[in-house]
Amino acid sequence: MDTLWAPWRIGYVTSEKPEGCIFCLKPSQDQDAENFILYRGTYCFVILNVFPYNNGHLMVVPYQHVPGIEDLQVEIVTEMMTLTQKALSVLRQALRPTGFNIGINQGVPAGAGVADHAHMHVVPRWVGDTNFMPVIADTRVMPQSLESSYELLVQGFQQE
Ligand SMILES: [Zn+2]
Repeated sequence: MDTLWAPWRIGYVTSEKPEGCIFCLKPSQDQDAENFILYRGTYCFVILNVFPYNNGHLMVVPYQHVPGIEDLQVEIVTEMMTLTQKALSVLRQALRPTGFNIGINQGVPAGAGVADHAHMHVVPRWVGDTNFMPVIADTRVMPQSLESSYELLVQGFQQE
């Protein structure tokens, strides 16, 4: 993941962090579209990363606030994985990626942005999406806005 060059993330690095935990706050608010929440399961929800490493970068997050997945009950871990499968299927349909990075950065040294609340990243990949980054870094743009990605993907989750 650290080989991906994502200049729009500077907004995340430099912005003021909200009080409290965003993965507890966002599902507690009744505004899923504004919060880019794509799907709500029984134990976990799916949310777009607003500072993505690539188009369609989403996260599968348990409602329970724990720093590591070893603290989650088996039903919750199971739903994390089944929702990850669903996310792959929806992303494949909607964005036609040819690969994915799927994983958990657990703890600050591992690169977790929100280290207190475990979450699974799903990042769609296309051949060549980063290979030329060092050369064309200055011209790199996100081809799709978050809003249009949300519209596309939320439909996919409704249909699944
Ligand atoms: Zn939390």
